[in-house]
Amino acid sequence: MITRRDLIARGAAAMLLPALGEAALPKDRIRALRGAVRGRVLTPGDSGYNGARVVFNTRWDGVKPPAVVQVRDSADVRAVVQWADRYDVPLVARSGGHGYSGNSTSDSAVVVDLDRLDAIRYSDGIATLGPGARLGDVYSRLAARGVTIPAGSCPTVAVGGLVLGGGMGLAGRAMGLTCDRVRSFDIVDAEGRRRRVDDGELFWALRGGGGSFAIVTAVRLRTRSVSTAAFFRISYSRAARDEALARWDAFAPKAPSDLTAILTLTSDGATAFGQYLGGANALSSLIRPLGGTPTVGSADYLTVQRRWAGDDSPPRSAFAASSIYVTKRLSANGRKAFLAAADTGATLILDAYGGAINRPDRDDTAFPHRRARFSVQVLSYAAIPTARQRVKSARSRIAPYGGGAYANYADPDLSGATRSYYGANLERLRRVKRDVDPANRFRPRQGIR
Ligand SMILES: Cc1cc2nc3c(=O)[nH]c(=O)nc-3n(C[C@H](O)[C@H](O)[C@H](O)COP(=O)(O)OP(=O)(O)OC[C@H]3O[C@@H](n4cnc5c(N)ncnc54)[C@H](O)[C@@H]3O)c2cc1C
Repeated sequence: MITRRDLIARGAAAMLLPALGEAALPKDRIRALRGAVRGRVLTPGDSGYNGARVVFNTRWDGVKPPAVVQVRDSADVRAVVQWADRYDVPLVARSGGHGYSGNSTSDSAVVVDLDRLDAIRYSDGIATLGPGARLGDVYSRLAARGVTIPAGSCPTVAVGGLVLGGGMGLAGRAMGLTCDRVRSFDIVDAEGRRRRVDDGELFWALRGGGGSFAIVTAVRLRTRSVSTAAFFRISYSRAARDEALARWDAFAPKAPSDLTAILTLTSDGATAFGQYLGGANALSSLIRPLGGTPTVGSADYLTVQRRWAGDDSPPRSAFAASSIYVTKRLSANGRKAFLAAADTGATLILDAYGGAINRPDRDDTAFPHRRARFSVQVLSYAAIPTARQRVKSARSRIAPYGGGAYANYADPDLSGATRSYYGANLERLRRVKRDVDPANRFRPRQGIR
């Protein structure tokens, strides 16, 4: 199986971008900030600053925020927001730092690092998670209670960014996106007030609209009981890629919703893999339309999640990425364009939609892509100039066959990015932003202004 970890490992030695510059805060403001919070405040020159400022994608290693505040609790978050309001300083939240586009760091905004808000609690069918909780820990703590939430496969991605952008994974077609399971958020708003949000426009915006509206300090999600899952994998040669893509496109977006199947295309070949909430025998017959020679198995649910995650935490690395949604069956010319895109050196990862992901309407939550057959993630782990070139060239080949983009596979090079991420929900998101954060305190890259 080609996992995201494999892709990361291939690019571990990639080059970095040069420094992008930094904005200094006056000393009295830093003193005031230090006096206001219990957590550490790290500024340029402090020991520990360089470790604290970097994010998962080493592409952004040159970005130097004026300060990183390692908050201890929601009282600290409130204190930072009140301080920022007093001195009119922009803020950006960070939970796991896995945002592709450097959207949880900044040369001008102070970073509110929520890594320590990582509590994982469960009671009466509801998981209450701190934004800094990592998916590997979430899966294992919930599995001990016989339940799960739908989320991504990388064990070090954090709940905060994942749920705010949507949250797609191998249970997606069975259980929906992570944001679809949210009952309520605890937030600190732009005026520095702690609030619970479970209704209204802000609740709508936080489910898929990103980090522009508030700082989330906890999220409550509806869980589902699980015990075991089945999984499969099929490898196809380079010569069989067109047939593999045609078969997958016909099958995966319309398959029974307990099955989520993904197809990876590279210049070497293709791989289909997926997870089924049922038995291995039933899965074997279900995936016959995919052809090839499948490997099929089943195990307890946590073991299967660990299988998708791989053995170790993925290392930080440099990569470029983009995404696009496809709403119609691909024609023969469409498939040709996809194979040509994979021949640029970029990898294409096709996540089947449909099932529970497509049950809500476009405007039920801020996440708008409810009519997609599948998303395509275009990825390249390589020296950044090469990676950007590959991703750009691959995306332009497939662009005639799709539209939009997934905010959690954010592409800093995409023009009209917010329209691509939020589609027809963009105007409503802008209205919510005007209402809840008129001073534009929260400023993630490619956020809502
Ligand atoms: C290796 C890897 C694998 C991935 N796999 C998947 C996958 O399987 N499925 C999937 O859907 N996505 C996947 N992603 C994408 C991932 O969901 C997004 O990058 C997500 O935004 C990361 O969340 P984070 O908290 O770790 O990131 P961060 O970089 O901390 O945050 C991302 C964005 O959310 C904002 N934000 C974060 N926390 C808060 C908060 N508490 N309050 C307000 N704003 C906040 C930040 O300001 C930033 O704009 C993957 C990413 C990587 C690097």
